[in-house]
Amino acid sequence: EAAANRIAAGEVVERPASAVKELMENALDAGARRIDIAVADGGKTLIRVTDDGHGIPAGELGLALSRHATSKIDGTNLLDIRSFGFRGEALPSIGSVARLTLTSRAEGSAEAAELRVTSGEMGPVTPAALPVGTVVEVRDLFHTTPARLKFLRTDRSEMQAVSETVRRLSLAAPFTAITLRDVTGGGEGRVTFQARRETGALPEARLARLRTLLGAGFAENALPIDAERDGLRLTGYAALPTYSRGSSVQQFLFVNGRPVQDKVLTGALRAAYSDFLSRDRYPAAALFLDIAPERVDVNVHPAKSEVRFREPGIARGLIVSALMHALAGAGH
Ligand code: ADP
Ligand code: MG
Repeated sequence: EAAANRIAAGEVVERPASAVKELMENALDAGARRIDIAVADGGKTLIRVTDDGHGIPAGELGLALSRHATSKIDGTNLLDIRSFGFRGEALPSIGSVARLTLTSRAEGSAEAAELRVTSGEMGPVTPAALPVGTVVEVRDLFHTTPARLKFLRTDRSEMQAVSETVRRLSLAAPFTAITLRDVTGGGEGRVTFQARRETGALPEARLARLRTLLGAGFAENALPIDAERDGLRLTGYAALPTYSRGSSVQQFLFVNGRPVQDKVLTGALRAAYSDFLSRDRYPAAALFLDIAPERVDVNVHPAKSEVRFREPGIARGLIVSALMHALAGAGH
């Protein structure tokens, strides 16, 4: 069990940023309206994610840290996934390669409880003080696996990766306030990213979050996208060609609410702009594709940033036509 967790950890948690992603996704799955992320030394010594979600009952803390225990599916239909998590691997994996403290108070519970796990060894459940919600503290990631520690980059670049992950995922959750703090050296630390909880309708909330993320420039040059074809729905914003970038850093692609990296989607985005941009320019866009779960495979990789479409041509066609239509409407 402990060895299996460590092997799984190699797949799920490659670096501090992947742990942050898993913990943030858990907080979102729990319905958090606010998530605070504190990181020290690029996440190597400390990652602490605090949320105000529904929490975990004291009697289920051990289960949350056990392999393949997930509260999110009943095990009969792996593909019908509405939440981020469904494998029950993240917490036990992280707990097997770090010192993890899980503190939580469930909705309706008068008290909080806490459970520590060090290198996969679980301690007792003890009482704790906390408002409704969950705090997951991860200290000394990979301290028992020096080979993995060696692969980590400088604190600075690990922090950059953490920041990138938080920013990307924040776009999937505009109705959640998100703060990232660098607490290296202790104390309150320094806020490096802050997004307030947006209100109103989803398109406007997304645009407001994009403004927080990318500044007014993107928002002022953004064309709204809303198109549907063959049961696929594409929404979001694509910037005018004049707002293109020298790299793909301002391309945010989501499938069923999850940030993804996918060649079909980035290829389609490029194709739609090909008449207006040279090869060294990249369109800026935040696109959200919604598709029936059985038509896309998100099980390609445990880190879940890759997807495989059953019919890639349909996704591509929808993106190219929707963006070309929007660009034409804007005089292109
Ligand atoms: P998964 O997300 O795939 O279910 P995880 O290992 O990430 O697996 O989490 C295991 C379980 O722990 C979740 O199914 C959930 O029940 C519980 N859990 C983890 N983090 C939180 C959180 N922040 N708030 C509420 N429950 C949580
Ligand atoms: Mg999870």
